[in-house]
Amino acid sequence: MAEATTQVKTQPGHYRQLLGQYEITALSDGTNAMPMDKLLTHTDPNTIRQLLAEKSLSPTVETSINAFLINTGKNLVLIDTGNGTQANSNVGKVQKNLLASGYRPEQVDTILMTHLHGDHFGGLVQNGKLSYPNATVYVSQKEYDFWLDPQHLAQAAPERKPAFQRVQDVFKILAAANKVKTFSGDAPLLPGITPVFAPGHTPGHTAYSIVSDGNKLLAWGDIVHAEAVQMPIPETTISFDSDMDQATKTR
Ligand SMILES: [Zn+2]
Repeated sequence: MAEATTQVKTQPGHYRQLLGQYEITALSDGTNAMPMDKLLTHTDPNTIRQLLAEKSLSPTVETSINAFLINTGKNLVLIDTGNGTQANSNVGKVQKNLLASGYRPEQVDTILMTHLHGDHFGGLVQNGKLSYPNATVYVSQKEYDFWLDPQHLAQAAPERKPAFQRVQDVFKILAAANKVKTFSGDAPLLPGITPVFAPGHTPGHTAYSIVSDGNKLLAWGDIVHAEAVQMPIPETTISFDSDMDQATKTR
């Protein structure tokens, strides 16, 4: 009898599809278990549980953290960077999955940030070094000002200070390498790639519209966390949306 071959069991951490002339690769950073019946607000927990059940989901949802790699043929663009590699963690796999998908970090020339939460910007710098050494990092002026203002760090509640401090530490390294560009308005940043101001989750949260040959993709960042609930009831917001009413309007 032949010796059994060990099954891998896990899914690959990247998924690729074409969008017109552009190649899009979704890169998994890993997953977080979130008790949606406790974290979502403005909709009663029974309705939340029922809507999740209709999509065969339990109240605690294994939510995905993803980054998106866009090869336009001229530029290699990364939208968000995940948490950054962490010991003994279920997350922080974007760069590993980028390599597995057939690219190298040095090839990325542009990084677009949806917002400056740790699970989106954390992968920009690893051990004090740029994870994507040839990339210019774009962030909306409003988001940049919110997190980088020393006053905001000074005035933040004690439990919120580490989040501000981490942004400021990482962006200090990026700024020293002259790698940060801020933007306001909705002018395209690259051909077919346009910022869409989408505030509410954070003050300067930005989605990105990607259009090629009439095909369109919206990378909407964290404005939706539980599609099964927030698509039918957009008023449903999550406890860590910074401005819940604004987040509802944006959705
Ligand atoms: Zn977020």
